[in-house]
Amino acid sequence: MLRWFDAEGRKDLPWQRPRSPYRVWVSEIMLQQTQVATVIPYFERFMARFPDLEALARADLDAVLHLWSGLGYYTRARNLHKAARIVMDRHEGVFPQTLAEVQALPGIGRSTAGAILSLACGQRHSILDGNVKRVLARSFGVEGWPGRPRVERQLWTLAERLTPEQRTGDYNQAMMDLGATLCRRGRPACLRCPLAADCVARREGRIAELPSPRPRKSLPVRTTRLLLIHDANSLLLERRPPTGIWSGLWSLPECPVETVDIADWCRTRLGIEPDRISPQPRRRHTFSHFHLDYTPVRIRTRGKPTKVMDTGDRLWYKLASPDPCGLAAPVQRLISELTDDLEGEMS
Ligand code: SF4
Repeated sequence: MLRWFDAEGRKDLPWQRPRSPYRVWVSEIMLQQTQVATVIPYFERFMARFPDLEALARADLDAVLHLWSGLGYYTRARNLHKAARIVMDRHEGVFPQTLAEVQALPGIGRSTAGAILSLACGQRHSILDGNVKRVLARSFGVEGWPGRPRVERQLWTLAERLTPEQRTGDYNQAMMDLGATLCRRGRPACLRCPLAADCVARREGRIAELPSPRPRKSLPVRTTRLLLIHDANSLLLERRPPTGIWSGLWSLPECPVETVDIADWCRTRLGIEPDRISPQPRRRHTFSHFHLDYTPVRIRTRGKPTKVMDTGDRLWYKLASPDPCGLAAPVQRLISELTDDLEGEMS
């Protein structure tokens, strides 16, 4: 693996130059569930705005969520922010150096802690992210869904046994790179793989079966209406509650699908007089544990909306020059479609 890393491994990713615990930490969190190519521009914007841990700890959560908008899994951003404050308070601003202390920070599990300390501090710790699980499951023929505790324990044992004493960071990077570039989920490039000669999945023709997929469960469906209440310049947003989906982000007011009279709902709930109500085709957003089927409804308000004022939980979002705030990806998409259509109407 190290020979392969020297020849083929990725050595010029933005978080590798310069490499510090802070930069590796942010990159590892962004890379959870997200591919390198998607992460790079987010990482660069994040570092430009929060170049060090202290800058992140001092920032408003809204500014952090704003830079995370579109990357999804927003709990990651909230935990990053919370952890930065903990490091400032409890570790005098110095990123902790032991596995136990790093793992005690919010949002950092065993593999992420091992990655930070091995890649940025040269310590010997194993990692087991999604890419490494796939490489190990295939090359050693490990059966069963890696999310199952028994299978995960087996993979951790293998990972620890294989981790070298020297150059652990390079070895871990090599395993992640191999999983991302050659041992891909679909159509792995086995001919170029340094593990090909001993790979069980390749030898036994079981590449498509390993790692075993998560046992299928059909997801429940929830339905709602997302209201785009706007005039020519601004749109009403509400802050989501601190728990549940899109927690703490800014979103659109939700009107239950059972409500027959949307205009009346706007009057009584929001004190807003709708002028024109235009429902749009239903769309689906899938979370890990349910599908959200939502119907966007555009509602033009009569006159200037004055009754609903900006408060901590409500905001008239300026469509042409918005203040930074965290938006869930589907909400961001609906807003940009609305902005485009309003610009079209004006031109
Ligand atoms: S030989 Fe193929 S399946 Fe096996 S580890 Fe290498 S890329 Fe993955």
